[in-house]
Amino acid sequence: MFCPLKLFLRDNLEENFEDKIFVKKAIKRIRLDVMDLLHRNIRGLNKQMDLGEIKEYLTRNIKHIVKESLNLIEQRNDVLSEEFNEIKDELLNEIDFEIDLLALKSYKAMQSLDKDGGDISEMFFPSAMYNYLIKDKTLEIIGSCDKIEIIEGRYFPIDFKNSIPPYQGVWDGDAIKLAANAILIEQEFDTEVFVGYIDYLKLGERRQVVMDSKIRKSLFKILHEVKEIIFEGQIPDVTPNLSKCSKCEYCEICNESSKVDDNDLD
Ligand code: SF4
Repeated sequence: MFCPLKLFLRDNLEENFEDKIFVKKAIKRIRLDVMDLLHRNIRGLNKQMDLGEIKEYLTRNIKHIVKESLNLIEQRNDVLSEEFNEIKDELLNEIDFEIDLLALKSYKAMQSLDKDGGDISEMFFPSAMYNYLIKDKTLEIIGSCDKIEIIEGRYFPIDFKNSIPPYQGVWDGDAIKLAANAILIEQEFDTEVFVGYIDYLKLGERRQVVMDSKIRKSLFKILHEVKEIIFEGQIPDVTPNLSKCSKCEYCEICNESSKVDDNDLD
């Protein structure tokens, strides 16, 4: 989002891009499986359980399934092993955090409402579809929606992110991807989507994105630019930026990064 030149370089230079995509998709699949298991496990809780028992019950089957899935990714993916170790540690920490948080929330809910897990599960897991793939031939886009929550007949796209959110709102790139999914949902289910959410999993934080005309226009502008880069091989014009270029994986090979003005600390 902040630099279309990254897309151009990735598309033209990166050999192991397919591997990276494979890992990303597999990790996302594990997250969805964990959510599914948590959804199942929460129904088996009862209000007599203490916090430790709740945590233990919620963890049922999860560690085993995550371990098996990670092993499968590792077998197929020895090229990225160092990077993958970091991803794996982050994922395991995130899952522990998710279980702790849900245990605390469900303990409080069961105590305050005097109900068992089966009665409170809808509070934390509304009706939803996971990993829903939608194609739109007119717009020439395909979107895989991490989750679509359906509440009182309205559809809410949810995207899961492993990054730390900004102080307020969401990152521009996250908002644009959500807008693309919102438009796909509108076409697929003949409905209107007014808001969507980004779940920043590391902090257990849900942020709202309003699907207004501004974000929709930005999406179409970006789709146009992406097509020019990918299909016409056009090298995009960019304004290099010190803080962003210094963190960019292409910094060493990108000519633009050498033009960065040292005073540019935006
Ligand atoms: S180094 Fe800077 S200008 Fe070059 S691709 Fe990365 S972000 Fe873009």
